[in-house]
Amino acid sequence: MHTLRTALLTAALALAFSGCSKPTGDSVDTGANAVASVQHLLLICIDTVRADTFFALGELEDDPLSKWEERGLVFTNASSPAPWTVPSIASAFTGLWPNQHGAGLIDGFKEITLARSPPSSLLAETRTIAQEARDNGFDTAAISASVWTFEPNDVDINRGFDSFDKYVPTIPTLGDVYWEDMLVRWNEINAARAPDTRSLDFVHFIEAHNWHFDSVPRLEKRLASFTPEELAIYRKTAPQRACEDEESMYCKRYLVYAHAVGVLRDVIAGMLDTLEANGKLKDTAVVLFSDHGEEFNDHGDDGRVMVFAAPKWPFMGHGFSLYQEQLHVPIVAWHPGVAGERIDNPVSLIDIAPSAAQWLGLEFNPPNSKARMLHEQVASFGKQEARPLYASHIADGEKQMSARLGDDKSIWYMASDRTVYYDLENDPGELASTQGDAQVMLFDRLFLEYDEMKASKQSGAASFTEQQLQGLQSIGYLQGVESTEEIDSGDEEETPEAEGQ
Ligand SMILES: [Zn+2]
Repeated sequence: MHTLRTALLTAALALAFSGCSKPTGDSVDTGANAVASVQHLLLICIDTVRADTFFALGELEDDPLSKWEERGLVFTNASSPAPWTVPSIASAFTGLWPNQHGAGLIDGFKEITLARSPPSSLLAETRTIAQEARDNGFDTAAISASVWTFEPNDVDINRGFDSFDKYVPTIPTLGDVYWEDMLVRWNEINAARAPDTRSLDFVHFIEAHNWHFDSVPRLEKRLASFTPEELAIYRKTAPQRACEDEESMYCKRYLVYAHAVGVLRDVIAGMLDTLEANGKLKDTAVVLFSDHGEEFNDHGDDGRVMVFAAPKWPFMGHGFSLYQEQLHVPIVAWHPGVAGERIDNPVSLIDIAPSAAQWLGLEFNPPNSKARMLHEQVASFGKQEARPLYASHIADGEKQMSARLGDDKSIWYMASDRTVYYDLENDPGELASTQGDAQVMLFDRLFLEYDEMKASKQSGAASFTEQQLQGLQSIGYLQGVESTEEIDSGDEEETPEAEGQ
């Protein structure tokens, strides 16, 4: 299937883990259904993967991840609490909404952009699941190709990892394959562990974030390498407005994006095959998720403020809206004691860490967390109470928050104080908004928390080194910034707009 998925995957998978973990008889008391506890946790983030593309590719014949999806908890209705990496990954690691954990907030109110202000760091008192695991004797390792999850002194979301392997894409290597080396490293780390060592691994893949932003000649070259069958498949999964004009850059870039998502599906299937072949899967829980989606002209020019994302590829990318194409993400969880099921209940990335902690037998109780247990979403637990899902912390544009309850969704544009309402059941593309205040009550509470968080915000916002700046620019952030001197230190006073709040 997806060409270029391949030899090295096979080679990487041939490397065997040494030793087997000890079996466990403990179980996690979840009331109605007990879930056996596991020794190991593997968290996999596939950066920038929208749910519709991800699941559509699973319908292909011979898709290797499909057989694994039958054995996992497949969440078809999962939301990211923010449209870009820092606040979303922090939520996945902490079980908290961005307003609660503090990471990824950008100063300003009317028009904000990462190009001028660095994001805030994770609040000092916030704990991550990696910290919790490490404090309980786990060996914790991160292998990441995302610049945002690299630097301990930056946004600080990678707290708690004993080792951190970085794979840094640059502009000339934007279209390169990083997953191969990352899998080799993942195998090495696992092979080096003593058999009775408990572990938490985080692997963060970047191909679906980067490949479609490659230079036009290389993009065209990659397109030309697809078989007609592949092209037809990718086109079939395209969002409605991406391929209206098949010669448009939106369409071309989408086809390359779909290919990258397909490649990553195969990579994940290979990782699960490896765990099973080495006998490790019976003691390992795996959570696959994406941190946010990607827009391909889904909404076009709807009058939004786009401070920085505009000139090169308008209405493509992420971080600048709270529409579903940027928030609807896949989550799939595998637990050896839980049978596979497809689940439509609304879940969020905030559910990942508290659920996984329970599977590991860790006491992990983030204060005021609204997380729900992923394994309690199965049908045998009965109907779940409706829950609001929030999103906030955009990276570019007018500051926004969204709240969703069932199929009712509101987006609040905070500076202009407009609230728009969508009925996702009848209008899944959010194309017909109505003005309304149906969900305003949901926002009130969140806004209070937001104020509180701002008040307690750490004084030192993240700062960038030149190398970090180049890394971020290579993946589309901070375009046009020539040196770190141009980026606010974060120590300056609030902008007048923000003072108005
Ligand atoms: Zn991301």
